[in-house]
Amino acid sequence: IIEFKNVSKRFGDTSIFNDFNFSVKENEIVSIIGPSGSGKSTLLRILMTLEGIDGGYINVNGESLWHMPWNGSYVPASNKHLHKMRDHLGMVFQHFNLFPHMTVKRNITEAPMRVKGLSRSEAEKNAEDLLELVGLADKADSYPNDLSGGQKQRVGIARALAMRPSILLLDEITSALDPELVDEVLDVIRNLAKEQRFTMLLVTHEMYFAREVSDRVCFFDQGRIVEEGAPEDIFTSPKEERTKAFLNAYL
Ligand code: ATP
Ligand code: MG
Repeated sequence: IIEFKNVSKRFGDTSIFNDFNFSVKENEIVSIIGPSGSGKSTLLRILMTLEGIDGGYINVNGESLWHMPWNGSYVPASNKHLHKMRDHLGMVFQHFNLFPHMTVKRNITEAPMRVKGLSRSEAEKNAEDLLELVGLADKADSYPNDLSGGQKQRVGIARALAMRPSILLLDEITSALDPELVDEVLDVIRNLAKEQRFTMLLVTHEMYFAREVSDRVCFFDQGRIVEEGAPEDIFTSPKEERTKAFLNAYL
């Protein structure tokens, strides 16, 4: 459902990905772990087309994210095409990114109404169901600033789901939270993973969580997948020295 082929990405003179290959199958839950600066967020941002690439191909649901025209430089696929591609993908960020001047409900109904053309009543019905799902049915009319970090992040998840994505991208969604709020957010993802069968690509520092929910774990370092495999294998018998050193620092 997601495929990166020989992708390269630079920021100025710094090469982040070079001939990078990676794929995710439908309904697969893949965790990405690895040190700071290894390119984890960049990978998700490229998928969301928030960042461009300098070479290679990316396919999402069988469609190409970037076109290479006759002159050999990369341009994004057309705007219309990009919007269509983005529809498949929902992303939840580390720092919530909620609209502070909108109620929780408006935060969730805004994009489906504006982008997908849902009527207000349809969008609100969906929002109510999603708030129920994340355990915040009573906060529909609150403003983000009146919520705890964990509650904000659960709204962030509901907002991403409101677009009915087939792929959910989660970038360290608990790392800005106080420890006691982490579980309430992870529980929402646990339930999604169990009940809805989503394709999920998650960047996380919560190793126990990665181990519990993932079908596959990829250890990233310096824009490369150093090692990947079933969570039991990666966490109990990593083969590469770098993976061992990284995990030792965490577990
Ligand atoms: P962390 O665990 O700290 O979130 P990460 O694995 O998500 O790290 P990225 O955010 O993908 O790392 O960054 C990879 C590298 O790319 C870093 O060296 C970073 O400084 C660089 N980088 C990221 N975004 C930009 C940008 N817009 N311009 C220049 N350099 C960037
Ligand atoms: Mg990051």
